[in-house]
Amino acid sequence: MIPHILVVEDEDSLATLLQYNLQKEGYEVALAGDGEEALLKVEERAPDLVVLDWMLPKVSGIEVCRRLRQRNETRNLPIIMLTARGEESDRIRGLDTGADDYVVKPFSMTELAARVRAVLRRIRPGLAEDRVRRGDIVVDRVEHRVKRGGQEVHLGPTEFRLLDYLIQHPGRVFSREQLLDAVWGSDVYVEARTVDVHIGRLRKALGVTDATDPIRTVRSAGYSLDLEG
Ligand code: CA
Repeated sequence: MIPHILVVEDEDSLATLLQYNLQKEGYEVALAGDGEEALLKVEERAPDLVVLDWMLPKVSGIEVCRRLRQRNETRNLPIIMLTARGEESDRIRGLDTGADDYVVKPFSMTELAARVRAVLRRIRPGLAEDRVRRGDIVVDRVEHRVKRGGQEVHLGPTEFRLLDYLIQHPGRVFSREQLLDAVWGSDVYVEARTVDVHIGRLRKALGVTDATDPIRTVRSAGYSLDLEG
């Protein structure tokens, strides 16, 4: 699955430059021009990482960061702050803003891309890897293959994306709507029970080794993938 990055920057030229370069690195990029729009966009579709400018109109970057850290759904959302050289960057280093990393302007795109990769690798190891192993399940993103307990698991494209998403967040419970947004995309109209159908197929396919069912159904909440290791 392609990591989705939200860039929050009010300076149009820099926003466009960031979008262009991060897309070139293989990320999907959305833009927000102020803090208010950023919070709305995160609510609509949770990104995998936020690049957040410190000085923003309406709601400041620091306030966006604080609000994201207060909410359960976004408490662990990786955030890289962009700061201008000078007092702000000194202040930001001294503050416990909850950001995962800081980049001081002006910065090179190579530097920013390296920070993005590093933060993703540290916080969501599954996202930056070509191959993810959790418990006895291995998802190979390059070859689009899944193995469980060494045996090949045959999955349809939707089941593959579903497993790939769940395995990035082991133990976390997702509602059907969240899974629809993440796996099918928010522009597509699909009924929530479609998720149940594909979870059913995924479960059946993963049952290759008679191992215990790794997918937990949480009544009236949704699903999660529970694996050791
Ligand atoms: Ca700014």
